[in-house]
Amino acid sequence: MSALPKIVLATRNQGKIVELRRILAEADQKIELVGLEEFPQIGEVAETGLTFAENALLKAHAVAAASGLPAVADDSGLCVDALNGMPGVFSARWAGSHGDDEANLRLLLAQVSDVPDGRRQGHFACAAALALPSGEEHVVEGTLTGTVIRAPRGTNGFGYDPIFVPEGESRTTAEMAPGEKDAISHRGRAFRALAPVVREVLAS
Ligand code: IMP
Repeated sequence: MSALPKIVLATRNQGKIVELRRILAEADQKIELVGLEEFPQIGEVAETGLTFAENALLKAHAVAAASGLPAVADDSGLCVDALNGMPGVFSARWAGSHGDDEANLRLLLAQVSDVPDGRRQGHFACAAALALPSGEEHVVEGTLTGTVIRAPRGTNGFGYDPIFVPEGESRTTAEMAPGEKDAISHRGRAFRALAPVVREVLAS
């Protein structure tokens, strides 16, 4: 039996690896998906792009070149209409220190405190990229539209989940079960759109 084709997911976040494995399995994708922990020599890739797609491609290319294997990477964030699409690619660093979810959320709430109900729309966006060591690249995007509420609700998820209510929902994404959020989320949509691309590229 021949070995399954191997793909590197450009993250050390175990949650993202589990999620992508589940989505690719649902898409009947027979691959071995490994995380960056198998490649300790590969350092952090600076997210210097101005769009989600640019950052996802930067990371996928860097990891494909360093590992010699096809690589998948994603970049995501929250875009608020009243803030002209910000925090956008700066979502994780909005309050300065990278990854301080609570500080980011508090700053965003303060910035939109004067924005009336009915004008608090925004969307989560995710770009998922596939890059090959040859330089071939593919990128797809997924979004989830909704509203930014005034005070956090719910304890699931991460980041801005406690203040985001998807369109047609009354709960925040932090009040949804993980599987429920995956089914509609920007990341779920982007990864599900990438699955057939991965299949096609590996078959060729
Ligand atoms: P990334 O890991 O560089 O893609 O950073 C994504 C950042 O955007 C996170 O730190 C969160 O602040 C925000 N974000 C992205 N997706 C979500 C989500 O599903 N829920 C809440 N916040 C999110």
